[in-house]
Amino acid sequence: MDRIVELSLAHDHHSHVSLYAAMDGVPDISSLDAAQATALLAALPGDSLSLVKGWRSDRLDLGPAVLEKLPPVLIVNSSLHGFALSPSARPFAERLWPELAGHGDDRQWGELHLPDLFVFYTRLAGLDSEKLARFMAGMAALGIHSLEDMTISGAEALRAFAEAGLGDRVRSWATPKVFASLSRNDRARCEGVKIFLDGSLGARSAALDEGFLDGSQAALLYGDEELLALLAALAAERTGLSVHAIGHRAIEQILGALRTLRREGLEFETVRLEHVQFISQEQGRAARDLGLVLSMQPNFSMDSELYADRLRERHRVENNPFRMLIDRLGFRPGLDLVFGSDGMPHGIPEALRWSLFPPHEGQVLGLDEFVAGSKAPNDSTQPVVSLRYRIDSRSRSVEALES
Ligand SMILES: [Zn+2]
Repeated sequence: MDRIVELSLAHDHHSHVSLYAAMDGVPDISSLDAAQATALLAALPGDSLSLVKGWRSDRLDLGPAVLEKLPPVLIVNSSLHGFALSPSARPFAERLWPELAGHGDDRQWGELHLPDLFVFYTRLAGLDSEKLARFMAGMAALGIHSLEDMTISGAEALRAFAEAGLGDRVRSWATPKVFASLSRNDRARCEGVKIFLDGSLGARSAALDEGFLDGSQAALLYGDEELLALLAALAAERTGLSVHAIGHRAIEQILGALRTLRREGLEFETVRLEHVQFISQEQGRAARDLGLVLSMQPNFSMDSELYADRLRERHRVENNPFRMLIDRLGFRPGLDLVFGSDGMPHGIPEALRWSLFPPHEGQVLGLDEFVAGSKAPNDSTQPVVSLRYRIDSRSRSVEALES
């Protein structure tokens, strides 16, 4: 039942390099139980603002009564969507980013400002070439040679990538706000601009076609007219566009906007749709007709199980419909269908496991498809190093082997 495969180091089309590298060394509560996590939080310094990562809302309740007793701390959700701010952290936030201080418990504000929050976390944690080198060494051990940073924190991230000698191993995307802050030279070093149209499953803020099991329905982050105006301004930059769209309604919105822009003669160099976990067959066909690239995460097939508490049965089956996209619509891994991890988690073993052994049949990817979709856009930058993995179809697992 076992087979051993040898794969070259791969390219991760969707990560957050500057954010994850900066957050390296930040206290992590993801593997702690509620009592341990509370003890760690309570022991943080009382006279400075701390950053903590790995909060899982299903394991640790951080309601007002709990937060009130904590030192100044900003606690980031393990999905990176959502955070908690203790009342004692407010004066610090007030100085660094006044808007944050006033919206510590406002989920909609958090989703709308997610990219700004990523930038804020990165700056608060601090990025340097040493952290980057450590991060990239960790990636290589997981089978990843190069990655795309979907939300660089600013010019300082581009500088840090260059200093760490990562110019050809990290491709950078910037939010509209960060992009606007860059020099012309730095803009040219970016692949393009990344925008968010909806939120996440973890925060129940993805714009699905039907509500979550608790009855909640997420709102789109932009109105149609507002999005058209933003895209028209970005198209003038002659750069790439990448669009975070998880739910049907977010996907529908960007397809409609791109059709309208095209009628007006406005085009982007490349357009990538990120995640598109709930793309319908009709939407998939429209995306092909428009020549879009789908950038998807085999890891997120696990959402069908992980979020069984909030997703309708139909949505659990429809999540990540790779077979429909490839077999019925003719998407080609490596060309117009590319794969990444979003760092949830990084690395080949988990991505390959969820490709080969996902919860639903429509989510299965073959080994060749996974490999093709995980190649760098410009293959010549990839090294000839390869790692070996054991694929065990009985236990439905993939494990890296010592080389
Ligand atoms: Zn992401």
